[in-house]
Amino acid sequence: MVSFATRSVLTAALSLATGMGIAAQDRYETTEIADGVYQFRWIGHNAMFVTTDAGVVAFDPIGVDAARQLAAEIHRTAPGSPLAAIVYSHSDADHATGAAALMEAMGQTGVPIIAHELAVAPIEERASADQPAPNVTFADQLRFLMGERWIELHYLGPSHTDNIAVPFIPDVGVAFAVDFASNDRPGYQDLASWHFPAFFNALSGLLGIPFETVVFGHGPPGDRASIQRQIAYYDDLTAAVREAVAAGWTEDQAAERIRLDAYSGWGNYEQWFPLNVRGVYRWLAAAGGR
Ligand SMILES: [Zn+2]
Repeated sequence: MVSFATRSVLTAALSLATGMGIAAQDRYETTEIADGVYQFRWIGHNAMFVTTDAGVVAFDPIGVDAARQLAAEIHRTAPGSPLAAIVYSHSDADHATGAAALMEAMGQTGVPIIAHELAVAPIEERASADQPAPNVTFADQLRFLMGERWIELHYLGPSHTDNIAVPFIPDVGVAFAVDFASNDRPGYQDLASWHFPAFFNALSGLLGIPFETVVFGHGPPGDRASIQRQIAYYDDLTAAVREAVAAGWTEDQAAERIRLDAYSGWGNYEQWFPLNVRGVYRWLAAAGGR
């Protein structure tokens, strides 16, 4: 496992805690992952931001309230540094909302918003002022120099959605992988929007990026071994569900009976593993058990 220095934001958080049943000190947290690379956690979601000589690049504003706090954390971490760009990891509203609030809280307008080209349509369809559409897009890979740092955005094909961008900061070996991978957690619920089998290529393709540390959209950061464990989990899950389909089990039977004890200690296993079984069952049943 990797370890990280966490900066206490308890004092600041106390004034923001509301009656949501979340302890004040748990509401948000900024963690320095590597030199000038920060994970910003807002309740259960993670953003990332990177400081450079030319300003700060923010990855996922998350939401309006989150973005305002993210701006405060950027000010605290990199005083006087402007926001240079915003990157959306993908089009889902629970990660891609708040860019306008972030700019406003930074006292700026017209900051470029970068995303994969397939993220534009779903964001424009929602027509929300809180979710401005990307105005810089890419198809396969985008590499740009911001101040002294290179920033890379990789497209690994469809996975959790068809428009996931994987940011990578090569000088410190940090990647940001949102919603299609995590550190020792099953996938979210029944994997409803996921693209199978392309997802498997995207997950293994992540290892083609030479990262050492990976920040996830949810949960704690990880390393290359975290991704190896994710690959093993989905392989084991698929093999187990394939056997169930071949044996003629219904989806309900598969969800009730299949257990993968090797992963029972993973976060959210009890709630999400049976739902992961259902998601893979639906794919395999639709694909005729292949
Ligand atoms: Zn998502």
